[in-house]
Amino acid sequence: MPIYLDNNATTRTDPAVVAAMLPFFTEQFGNASSAHAFGSEVAGALRQARRALQGLIGAAAEPEIVFTSGGTEAINTAILSALAVQDGREEVVTTCVEHPAVLTLLDHLEATRGLRIHRIGVDHEGRLDIDAYRRALGPRTALASVMWANNETGTLFPVVALAEMAHTVGALFHTDAVQAAGRIPIDLRATRIDMLSLSGHKLHGPKGIGALYLRKGTPFSPLIRGGPQERRRRGGTENVPAIVGLGKAAELAAAHLAHPHGAVGDLRDRLEQGVLQQCGGCTPLGDIAHRLPNTSNIAFEAIEGEAILHHLNRAGIAASLGSACASGSMEPSHVLRAMKVPPRALRGAIRLSLSRETTADEIDQVLGVLPAIIDHLRASPPS
Ligand code: PLP
Repeated sequence: MPIYLDNNATTRTDPAVVAAMLPFFTEQFGNASSAHAFGSEVAGALRQARRALQGLIGAAAEPEIVFTSGGTEAINTAILSALAVQDGREEVVTTCVEHPAVLTLLDHLEATRGLRIHRIGVDHEGRLDIDAYRRALGPRTALASVMWANNETGTLFPVVALAEMAHTVGALFHTDAVQAAGRIPIDLRATRIDMLSLSGHKLHGPKGIGALYLRKGTPFSPLIRGGPQERRRRGGTENVPAIVGLGKAAELAAAHLAHPHGAVGDLRDRLEQGVLQQCGGCTPLGDIAHRLPNTSNIAFEAIEGEAILHHLNRAGIAASLGSACASGSMEPSHVLRAMKVPPRALRGAIRLSLSRETTADEIDQVLGVLPAIIDHLRASPPS
């Protein structure tokens, strides 16, 4: 059986999620806006999905969840909304290590609208320069947007404190929680986070569905205008099967977080410790004490990450480059470059990302294979 250790790229849709979705392709095909039984059944299913998401992230009242086509749309909606409602404020504070869903949009806004973007740096372990963040905030800041967890290293950011700081200057605060939601407990009630983005396919739900949490009372301007769906916050007939799937995925993730059967973090640590003990010349990257429990990014010196992945793939093990190259370029990722990982380690970084489905047996199998691959590649360096 192949072993899948690339859960930060996407996760397997849980069979219970698929089962929950299926009736909404067949018998329950109604439009939630219709004033007959077909419609009201579907409207009830959407309400249930919204409640499940509220439960997962500790959101208070129903209007706080807006369903979107995924994490990227939720993020674009949050950023553009904050700029639209904060008239006269033309600055955004973010980090150098955000996902392209944030950075590409902000680059575009900087180039086309002349907005001032403050991209705050990180240290060698990927930790945010908090003083620089505080200094960048000011009366012209419309929004601060900081990810909850980094997709490449799993490093967690202190978003609850960062949101408090943003509010001291009257800015809104958004967090990209695409990698964090469903993997670590989140309770927004006691925080001042105004907006949070998440995505179905990172938490064993379907692809092409996500949600934007919008704290009650947060001023809002929709990205997609059309019909009155989502209380006029996102026009367009709802993708009902996917929303139901996301709701079921949220319910399963919340149950797993409340009663974990076998801690993902223990398996990740067993894998990482095993690799570090058996292979010399390698270092785990990121903030080791504060990171997602499922992620290990390990830099192997003097080997190409591509070669490791190739051999792992031949052994039936799926992982990814620790330093995901931007598409079409061989440039190492902006995240590890921001962390100033030395070039000889940068090229040999691989990311192993587990899920609640990963088993101890799979970890042992990887430990049975990976050290031999590393020995082999070190013994036969590229010509
Ligand atoms: N933000 C982070 C941190 C991600 O890892 C991803 C996906 O890889 C996204 C945003 C984009 O989410 P989606 O694929 O649902 O558009």
